Amino acid sequence: MNISDIGEFGLIEEIKRLTKNPEGALGIGDDCAIIEYGEKELLVSVDALVEGVHFFEDANPYLLGRKSLAVNISDVAAMAGIPKWCFLSISIGKGVAKEWIDSFMKGFLDLAEEYNVYLLGGDTTSSEKTVINITIIGENRKGKSLKRSTAKVGDLVVVSGRIGCSFAGFKALRDSIEGFEELKDKHLNPKPMVEEALKIRDIATAMIDISDGLVQDCGHIAESSKVKIELFWDKIPFCDTDIATEEEMLCGGEDYQILATIRSNAGLPDGFYVIGRVVKGEGVVLLKNGKSVELKDCGYRHF
Ligand code: ADP
Ligand code: MG
Repeated sequence: MNISDIGEFGLIEEIKRLTKNPEGALGIGDDCAIIEYGEKELLVSVDALVEGVHFFEDANPYLLGRKSLAVNISDVAAMAGIPKWCFLSISIGKGVAKEWIDSFMKGFLDLAEEYNVYLLGGDTTSSEKTVINITIIGENRKGKSLKRSTAKVGDLVVVSGRIGCSFAGFKALRDSIEGFEELKDKHLNPKPMVEEALKIRDIATAMIDISDGLVQDCGHIAESSKVKIELFWDKIPFCDTDIATEEEMLCGGEDYQILATIRSNAGLPDGFYVIGRVVKGEGVVLLKNGKSVELKDCGYRHF
């Protein structure tokens, strides 16, 4: 059997079925695990960036260092937690120069400082291709972390900013289109939305970061909360560019905006957009001029 027969999410489900959650901990299935710890809870997540999959050999190492940590910090933001500590395990590919590592570490540590995150350990090895593996630990007051699984029928769906800029920037980079520096920066130097997530922590019912694409990440909330999400196409704040289509922006990943459901009677904080609502049922439906539109093969999957 090929792994692609069950897919990335099928494989994770299978691993999940083989594990148990001890009391006081939430395991596989969300952006971070939650571990109760006295009056607090720890949020822990690990993510890998693989050369040839997440970045190319000629990637700017400074920006790669920043992005590697940014995507991990985003997983803590995705649960409305505060990122605190990290570990860096790096397998260095053949032919990588010392200067490359220096720039990578400068980018990594610059971002760490901007977010008050401390590097506490890691591991260094060599391999065919470069693989970067980061563990992030954040914290929250007990019971305050927001999961994917707690959206309720009647809630509104909100997003913390424009979506699709990262995909548009990726397209410009991939097709070697000159200019579009701002969009390229969105893709290469994403900003984890820690503050934004905290702003809505007390009115949100469920939360995730948009790493796989708006539609697919709505799907993650819908599936774990056992609800259906209706998205209003005309309310979605698409990136202001014609380099990518709206369809591509709905499916393209790596925006790292916060996507949340909030109680419908709560006021909306500055900077957030209401883009949909939670209803009974399952899956995600996009409504355009009152009609539902289906998008095929939407969002990133590894297998
Ligand atoms: P994200 O895109 O936010 O990084 P993933 O889709 O990578 O999340 O992972 C979804 C969930 O599955 C997370 O809770 C993660 O910890 C868990 N997970 C993924 N791969 C594995 C694995 N090989 N073993 C155990 N848990 C895993
Ligand atoms: Mg992951």
